[in-house]
Amino acid sequence: MSTYGIFVLVVLITCELCSNAVVRCAPSPTSANVRSLARSKSSANNQTTLDPTEALEIPQVSELDAEIVLRGLGYNEVDEVDGLSISQRMSDSSEKSLTDLIRIFQREHGLDESGVLDDDTKLVIGSPHCGSKRSSKTANDVSKWTKKSLTYRIHNFPRGKSPGPIRKLLAQAFSEWSKVTNLDFQEVDTEDSDIEIGFGGQVHHQRGDKCMFDDSKTLAHAYYPEVGDIHFNSQYFFEGDTSLTDFLDTALHEIGHSLGLEHSSSKASLMHPTESNGFTEPQPMDVQKIQALYGVRRGGRATETSGPKLCTLSKIDAAIDDDNGNVYFLAGNYFYNANKTRSKGELISSKWPGLPGNIDAAFRYLDGRSYFFKGDKYWRFKGSRLEPGHPRSIRKAFPGLPSNCDAMIVDGDGDIYAFRGNQYWVYETKTKKISSLSPSSIRLLGLPNNLDAALDTETTIGAFKGTSYYEAQVNGKFRTTHSSLLVC
Ligand SMILES: [Zn+2]
Ligand SMILES: [Zn+2]
Repeated sequence: MSTYGIFVLVVLITCELCSNAVVRCAPSPTSANVRSLARSKSSANNQTTLDPTEALEIPQVSELDAEIVLRGLGYNEVDEVDGLSISQRMSDSSEKSLTDLIRIFQREHGLDESGVLDDDTKLVIGSPHCGSKRSSKTANDVSKWTKKSLTYRIHNFPRGKSPGPIRKLLAQAFSEWSKVTNLDFQEVDTEDSDIEIGFGGQVHHQRGDKCMFDDSKTLAHAYYPEVGDIHFNSQYFFEGDTSLTDFLDTALHEIGHSLGLEHSSSKASLMHPTESNGFTEPQPMDVQKIQALYGVRRGGRATETSGPKLCTLSKIDAAIDDDNGNVYFLAGNYFYNANKTRSKGELISSKWPGLPGNIDAAFRYLDGRSYFFKGDKYWRFKGSRLEPGHPRSIRKAFPGLPSNCDAMIVDGDGDIYAFRGNQYWVYETKTKKISSLSPSSIRLLGLPNNLDAALDTETTIGAFKGTSYYEAQVNGKFRTTHSSLLVC
């Protein structure tokens, strides 16, 4: 890991604005921040903990709770998972034991298939999820709308909430589907709308009749065509930790059902049943499925699976390395291998299923796990597997670290540096607290303000801003190079 403590003392940076002139941008060595960094480095790797976050709370899920949730979600009727036959097909599908239900659930959610209600399984079962049931129809009996222009009505809004932003997000969600397929949506205020949208508690109404969420962790549910109604659990939205992006993600998902899509076991799909992944548009596999039902929107977005060339980008969002020494850049919905500047971007969701696009910052921790930050949440991956309990609130896991970071790195002690605007914060892993000196001016590290991305390796600290790259290097004596990376 980098020896920031040492080289921030002597960092020299070639300024973007003054071409070849070499300007000393580093602070004086007596700066409190620099001393703090040096001390942090000298205390070396002896106290490193492999989980820098505050402990994840395991939800209380009894076997009875699990059985209610799994049967409620229709796992009792499952005998195929997205076309894949379950190897241990049950002899009588109406009599599956809890162990069988858990095993199927674990398979669909990429968990170890033990059939045991372990902590990882509790985390997923106990997470807020969609309550739409698996439909028992066969492949030939596709449920879809027979018309292409659909109306929706917002029956009510969550109590005490202003309708404006909710109405806007719903319109946005419908429009995202409309962009990719031949369906048009119009909000109306008449009772004969095609799709009726409502907010309510565990017991609510569906066009005058009683309707219920199966359990208290149900975010929302929707009816397949040609009913199409959507009910959101008002306790989950527009309060506390749940952001507007969570609502948009859930609305996109429920509209997917309302148009005829079922759940997907892939975390790269908007139609995965558990908690919001922060998606803001249908993902490529969802686009393919909806286009199979209603066709490709003429002049609309095709199912793009590759992005522009790396060297044509004007900026990147985040940078991260892996155990094999590869460095990856993330930009929009795509990732790039840094060594292949002329290669096209590949979908982020193909490498890290469950990770949305437009990431703020990323780093690889000392134990090899990858952390990705966006807004007020972060996603933690072991290899290409999103770990149970994620995405998780930054505020709960890293108390004191800000949301919407520009860039992040980890030092040799496992302490985490978060950059935002003209400041940086240090999260000390040993105490699981923010350093008392945070936030400090980013200039103290000899780096420019408003970074796009940063990367730490054994011998360098790299920072990216626009098409410029700043690198502080240790090679006997210290020097800093500044080069243009994103050039074809
Ligand atoms: Zn669903
Ligand atoms: Zn309902």
